[in-house]
Amino acid sequence: SISVVEVRPHDKFVGVYVIKFEDGTERLATRNLTPGKRVYGERLVKWQDVEYREWNPYRSKLAAAILNGLKVMPIGEGSHVLYLGAASGTTPSHVSDIVGDKGLIYSVEFSPRVFREFMEKLVDQGRRNVVPILGDARFPYQYAQYIKGVDIAYIDIAQPAQAKILADNADYFLRKGGHVMLVIKAMSIDVTREPSETFKQEINALKERGFDVLDIVHLEPYDVAHAMVIARRV
Ligand code: SAM
Repeated sequence: SISVVEVRPHDKFVGVYVIKFEDGTERLATRNLTPGKRVYGERLVKWQDVEYREWNPYRSKLAAAILNGLKVMPIGEGSHVLYLGAASGTTPSHVSDIVGDKGLIYSVEFSPRVFREFMEKLVDQGRRNVVPILGDARFPYQYAQYIKGVDIAYIDIAQPAQAKILADNADYFLRKGGHVMLVIKAMSIDVTREPSETFKQEINALKERGFDVLDIVHLEPYDVAHAMVIARRV
């Protein structure tokens, strides 16, 4: 294995780090909240008595967005986040690292099989700032009793009408002035790479629900189909 030359804080975002290896390559990372534990086979790196987890942009669209120059990253230390579409917890685990002990991440997943895998990992790691919720993001009233207000609502459910689903959840849970983050399908399948109809519709749906779009970042080469959108409702 190659050795580490340094780990430094990311230029812009608190809680995000950059690992530099001796061959000159650099990788994004977060500080491991549960040292010794891996979530998805990622490399663990120790530097000055602190353990970091490499953050793979091919596996996590939030990492891809950061590497592609995201300007606004509302998640920080102590944030309370509603995460819709947790799957087995790859990106949620890095969000959990970033928000730390004082933060919380409510993670909603509706597939029982995927949710069980997610739960097993959480129990194994002992991540205590993650609140797993088996629920359907289309019906926020189903889980409304478990959630207090959040600073950020994040959605990555690979379903149509995500902007509507996100705005419905924001109506329930997002504090005034809070941010939303959406992963949406941005490209048509064809090579002309025009924004897809879905993309335009989703952006419009957000605006109609009172959100200002602050940032849009495409995720290629890490993910060719999607973009990350950051918006805010004041
Ligand atoms: N965000 C994850 C990450 O980066 O690690 C990957 C999410 S994956 C693309 C989409 C997930 O959303 C799937 O696990 C799927 O079961 C879940 N999902 C789809 N529709 C949903 C819904 N209506 N409510 C909750 N989860 C949903």
